[in-house]
Amino acid sequence: MRTLGEWHQAVAEARHRIAEYVATTPMVSSDPLSRLLGQPVWLKCEQFQPMGAFKIRGAANALLTRQSQGALLGAVTYSTGNHGLAVAYLGARLGIPVAICISQAVPANKVNALRARGAETIIEGHSQDDAQTAAVRIAEERGYALIEPFDDPDIIAGQGTLAAEMLDQAADLETVVVPVSGGGLAAGVAAEIKAQRPTIRVVGVSMEGGAVMYESLKRGHPVKMPEAPTLADSLQGGIGLDNRWTLRMVGEYLDDLVLVSEEEIAQAMGFLAVEQGMVVEGAAAVTAAWIRRQPSVAGPVAAILTGRNVDGMVAAELMTAYRQSSA
Ligand SMILES: *Cc1c(COP(=O)(O)O)cnc(C)c1O
Repeated sequence: MRTLGEWHQAVAEARHRIAEYVATTPMVSSDPLSRLLGQPVWLKCEQFQPMGAFKIRGAANALLTRQSQGALLGAVTYSTGNHGLAVAYLGARLGIPVAICISQAVPANKVNALRARGAETIIEGHSQDDAQTAAVRIAEERGYALIEPFDDPDIIAGQGTLAAEMLDQAADLETVVVPVSGGGLAAGVAAEIKAQRPTIRVVGVSMEGGAVMYESLKRGHPVKMPEAPTLADSLQGGIGLDNRWTLRMVGEYLDDLVLVSEEEIAQAMGFLAVEQGMVVEGAAAVTAAWIRRQPSVAGPVAAILTGRNVDGMVAAELMTAYRQSSA
């Protein structure tokens, strides 16, 4: 384990290392959510990163760190989508061959996007765990660097740069709301926030169906659960039965982990699109879904909108449904 001071140092180094490859994304004041909650609400708009999600932060930090330790033959990863996209994009920019192992459960739009970025896609098995097994094998066979999606200190520090940026953009935050799947984002964000401003409350949000981190925290060890269909497909997947970093960090640094329903996610996606002009994916909308319950939290509140990679047909349907229900 590292201390908060050590994480803060790692995040500062990561911020410098990845600056050329990532965007400084806007923090936008949300009038509709602020009015609902009765507190100022900010949206941290990571959907505007290259490839449409915050994953570029951790992926860039991990790839550039490995590269500084010696030339890379290639990089391999496994991913339900956005992490794979980020690694593919960076591989193309850095001139490193990239192989990506994905399960059959990943939607076709994400598979096609990976191929369009020039990555070799290897489809194997039915879950994130099957894809992980394949990635470990490819790394050994080819001597590629394995770029983990969340349970790795370089990934965690890279995602933590998001929090450092938020604190620069809004100095008086009281609550930060962050989506949780494998917990790389939540671990990095919470560590950086607790290092800098320990009184800020950090709340994680997952979907009700297949909330592996939530169950693992409850039981005190990593659990395996079946993947359930969800609008928040980027939050699907396990935390790894041999989880080394994120379970402990999320348990230690997150103040709360809450769950939202599919109906709440659907409504929040429609709300963000119609009321806010922001089309984001379900994994991002879980934060707005929780805020729309009007929880009693101290403001200003910052909600992290993690990504925008949603099928256009799905987004259009949810906008229409929201518009009709609020008419
Ligand atoms: C990966 C991802 C998350 C969750 O991040 P973890 O580090 O796995 O917890 C949330 N939202 C989007 C859009 C993602 O791609």
